Amino acid sequence: MTELLRADGLSAFYGASQILFDIDLVLEEKCTLALLGRNGAGKSTTMKTLAGIVPAGSGRIVLAGRDITHAPPHARAKLGLAYVPEDRQVFPEHTVEDNLLIAAKSGPDGRRDWTLPRIWDAFPLLANLRARQAGRLSGGEQQLLVIARALMGNPLVLLLDEPSEGLAPIVVATISRMLRELRASGATILLAEQNMHFCLRIAEMAVVIDKGKVVHREDTAGLAGNDDIRRRYLAI
Ligand code: ADP
Ligand code: MG
Repeated sequence: MTELLRADGLSAFYGASQILFDIDLVLEEKCTLALLGRNGAGKSTTMKTLAGIVPAGSGRIVLAGRDITHAPPHARAKLGLAYVPEDRQVFPEHTVEDNLLIAAKSGPDGRRDWTLPRIWDAFPLLANLRARQAGRLSGGEQQLLVIARALMGNPLVLLLDEPSEGLAPIVVATISRMLRELRASGATILLAEQNMHFCLRIAEMAVVIDKGKVVHREDTAGLAGNDDIRRRYLAI
């Protein structure tokens, strides 16, 4: 297995307050790793630190063998790290198709696996909405669009921050199915979630964080039956 993304001993601060403490993560190629934790646990801060939006206070981040700890966000993106934040920002005045085309580029290894035709194939819902202004999409449709837009850059690794947050159950089911298909097609994903059930059928392994620290690591099947950890750290 090739290791695509690694964080060693990562810490992060907002001003003087320390938010992340000594986070270790390893993401293997073609795997999906769930980053689980309650609201406020530090999931988004971890994702932002990996993406370069929040600076690492200490520790090291390695993407496909390169140390990116101090690289700016755009350089990380160029090296194949696609970050999809939780706020689902689309270009509202542009059509779905233009939102995707704006992001089209080859991957860092020259691959161009994801093109518009493949996106329409993988996201039939978006294909039907291709001429719609992105600002007029529902929350779930926008979530699909921002994931598809990230894929248009042919990244090595996708960082998805709470894609299920605030969406109706039926929409969550659609996004879950799409992410399972994405994983089956060989994508490598770090999936931050509060919703453990959402992750169960998508991610093989889970890292649970609480108050900015890793408190547990287990395969998702085992975690589903681990009542103690779920009660203590996941509020379900
Ligand atoms: P999660 O994504 O797991 O809900 P966050 O990473 O957003 O958690 O937040 C972790 C902690 O950092 C929380 O205590 C939150 O209040 C704090 N925090 C998040 N963003 C900021 C910020 N911009 N400035 C100060 N504190 C923040
Ligand atoms: Mg968050």
